[in-house]
Amino acid sequence: MNTGFHKTIGLKVDVDTYDGMRKGVPTLLSLLRKHGIRASFFVPMGKDHTGWTAKRVFTRKGFLKKAGRVGVLETYGLKTLMYGLLLPGPEIARKATPILKQIVAEGHEAGIHGYDHVHWHDYVKTWGREKTEEVLQKASAVYEDVFGERPRSFAAPGWMVNQHALRFFRNNGFAYTSDTRGLSPFFPEMGGESFDILQIPTTLPTLDEVVGIAGTDAASLSRFFLSSLTDGLNILTVHTELEGHRWAGCLDAFVRISLEQGFTFERLIDIAAQCKNQGIVPRCRIIYGYVEGRAGEVSRQET
Ligand SMILES: [Zn+2]
Repeated sequence: MNTGFHKTIGLKVDVDTYDGMRKGVPTLLSLLRKHGIRASFFVPMGKDHTGWTAKRVFTRKGFLKKAGRVGVLETYGLKTLMYGLLLPGPEIARKATPILKQIVAEGHEAGIHGYDHVHWHDYVKTWGREKTEEVLQKASAVYEDVFGERPRSFAAPGWMVNQHALRFFRNNGFAYTSDTRGLSPFFPEMGGESFDILQIPTTLPTLDEVVGIAGTDAASLSRFFLSSLTDGLNILTVHTELEGHRWAGCLDAFVRISLEQGFTFERLIDIAAQCKNQGIVPRCRIIYGYVEGRAGEVSRQET
């Protein structure tokens, strides 16, 4: 099942909000520096419209229950919850360019996490080719402006993707993308098409999915994540708004103990290169489905 990896962890850092970018990224950079490990950061290239998620309270089954468990107000702060509602949404990448550049300067990877996180998450399933490509062109253009080079990696907001996005990634020189939940890297099939663009799924649950269920404090939750690791390849997604904020202690303990147990951390771009060298990547279908603890659908590796 796992393609030749031994006790490897790919740490994927999702930035969802402007606050997460400004405050959470520096917190995580210093945590990674302390442990001497590298990670892959994914940043929305457009505005923070977190406030739009407020409408999910009314439209999404299970959202209220989860919001209570995660502590939405403590996690995001009132101001962020107003972005796109009463306050204009700030530009996440453009207003924080020095932080973005610091990610790369410290040896980490920086990829794209959509243009508008909320918009992508809620609508990408319904978008046709034209709309999907328009959004991805816009996000790629900002990335190119900031870094002076073409993007090589993408992680779908909310793990929602469609076949038009996969086609765009294949046609535009991406090395891999990470849009799904699953077990191990694969070449995706979606909407009846097959794509030669490596897909690296998130294999572990996220903290917001298990908080209050697998544990309630940093110690019990880090133990839960450690016990969920396999001896092959593990991809863990953390969020700047959670592990880069009040759950930093949980991630810190997880990293420290997993290093003691002989695990190594690698950037997803390096994991992608290894997958290609090993040349034994299976083809799998991407389907929409559900994961425990998460409101709404996600894209999943069919197993
Ligand atoms: Zn996200």
